[in-house]
Amino acid sequence: MKIEDTGIEIDFAGQQKKKSPLIASGPCSAETEEQVMETAEELKQIGVQLFRAGIWKPRTMPGGFEGMGEAGLKWLQKVKEKTGMQVATEVANATHVNLALKYGIDAIWIGARTSANPFAVQEIADSLRGRNIAVMVKNPLNPDAALWQGAIQRFLDAGIKNISAIHRGFSSYGFSQYRNPPHWQVVVELKQRLPHIPLLCDPSHMGGRRDLIETLSQKALDLNYDGLFIEAHVDPDNALSDKKQQVTPEELLEILNNLVIREETGPNAASKNDLDDFRKKIDMIDDELVSILKERMKVSEEIGNYKKKNGLTILQQSRWEKILEKLQGRSESTGLSSGFLEEIFKSIHQESINHQEKVMRLD
Ligand code: PEP
Ligand code: MN
Repeated sequence: MKIEDTGIEIDFAGQQKKKSPLIASGPCSAETEEQVMETAEELKQIGVQLFRAGIWKPRTMPGGFEGMGEAGLKWLQKVKEKTGMQVATEVANATHVNLALKYGIDAIWIGARTSANPFAVQEIADSLRGRNIAVMVKNPLNPDAALWQGAIQRFLDAGIKNISAIHRGFSSYGFSQYRNPPHWQVVVELKQRLPHIPLLCDPSHMGGRRDLIETLSQKALDLNYDGLFIEAHVDPDNALSDKKQQVTPEELLEILNNLVIREETGPNAASKNDLDDFRKKIDMIDDELVSILKERMKVSEEIGNYKKKNGLTILQQSRWEKILEKLQGRSESTGLSSGFLEEIFKSIHQESINHQEKVMRLD
């Protein structure tokens, strides 16, 4: 990525200055030359700066469409020549890197499955030493900010200057409305660890559904992300991979037009002093929340003692179901989403169980 073209200005020694969000888009997979070229021409028209397309596809099960390989790199080269957009693809080993470099790919991204593997990341970083290419590191499949940071660090250590992080959500077991729930707090933690790393959001893999892209993108912009990484295809319903989450370039334009870019500071935002006051209030409320939770755990421990004396189990399923039922009724009156309430209370409940277990173990 040429920084001037992306809308992101990065200076790792200093701070990062943001102009407008980078819009990266393109199909999940490069399938045919026509599909790639048509998608690229349309995306160029709507102002996309960086064209993405997968050439080597990491599939969960063998036998699926595993990408077009080197042939696809030629199409990406053609996209670059014809449209002037910069081009990006995913790499998972040193062979992929060497081919990407051979075809003049501007940016590579490290997929979620690869980011979780330090050996693979190190091999890729070593094969990039001394080369001028942008690297985008997707979050690992598991919500582990340190592992994500480690992957980024391997590229920094290899002397790569232009590095960004892509938040694509995390694998999860059980029901969620998202294909890969975002767990936004992991990004907050990554930002604490690497404050100057530019951050993109990939709402396509996060949501796994077209209709979630806009809301997730808006949320990312409101959290001050530096760009969006969105899958688009001229004919999404017939795509060879990830068809449910791809949009047409036209639909992408509509989504982008609906997004609001708010300023972090500046004439339209609250003044610093006002902000400080709000933050003090938030800090006070947070302190209160922590002390209330402490009180709650004390009561839990008393219940633990009672259960121990009377030979009762820690988990009383019917009691827990009643708590959940009551919460559902509260969502409307409080304006707090039922998903949020449930998530918080699941954590509180788990912590109570842990406290009670401790009590049970004591003599
Ligand atoms: C992709 O971007 O097409 C992809 C495979 O992404 P992820 O690594 O996030 O699953
Ligand atoms: Mn995909």
